[in-house]
Amino acid sequence: MALPRKKFVAGNWKMNMTSSEVAPYLEVFRQETEPVNNVDIAIIPPFTALAKASEILGGSQKIRLGAQNMSPEAKGAYTGEISAAMLRDLFVRYVLVGHSERRRLFGETDELVHRKVVTALNSELRPILCIGETLEERQAGQEKAILEAQLEGALKALTQEQLEEIIIAYEPVWAIGTGLTATPTQAQEAHQFIRDYLKTSAGVEIADKTRILYGGSVTADNARELLSQPDIDGALVGGASLDPRSFAEIVAAAVPAE
Ligand code: PEP
Repeated sequence: MALPRKKFVAGNWKMNMTSSEVAPYLEVFRQETEPVNNVDIAIIPPFTALAKASEILGGSQKIRLGAQNMSPEAKGAYTGEISAAMLRDLFVRYVLVGHSERRRLFGETDELVHRKVVTALNSELRPILCIGETLEERQAGQEKAILEAQLEGALKALTQEQLEEIIIAYEPVWAIGTGLTATPTQAQEAHQFIRDYLKTSAGVEIADKTRILYGGSVTADNARELLSQPDIDGALVGGASLDPRSFAEIVAAAVPAE
């Protein structure tokens, strides 16, 4: 019998919050999440706020740090880029890879996403691989084919050991920042499809262990129902993570029932 997967809730601040806003945020968030100890929590600030968050959290095991993006290159003449080593230096543990905003607005391809996944793994950063279909793709009945292509493109040729480090975030593009959420049934169906894909491509053990987060207009009001679905192992939260109290309520909704 597989062990239950520990829920994971991560807050993607996107291009919000300056360095000076980090301390007041964390003061409230730490207080509000004080009673929670069986959920993995991460905040994912913009690069410029990471150092401050790192200084305050001091390598905390309770609230971990993630980055929103990362160069696929190790170092060198790549003006404007941030390397995995730079992130590790700040005790960053997770990195978002293939967020739909990066795919859509910055032209990131499955090939680039794959290179970033490999670079992250080689640097002991855990990739949170974001995948999801657009509204047009869903309306055309292509959502499963899109998810499969994104999974295949990003995860090809990884070893079992590497696959164990991957966290997947299913984020239907039509639900991100729009206030439209996938219904718990729609989300569960997609998550089950992703887990079945992992079963076939990587084996039952990896499929059972891998955490698959849901992202797309998660709020304190809808989190509990989404998180109670059998294949939803956590949430990747954008807008609602900017308010430390709302975000803490979402974290609380992930606490397993006694
Ligand atoms: C996201 O950016 O990953 C996200 C899910 O955003 P929002 O919660 O605002 O839809």
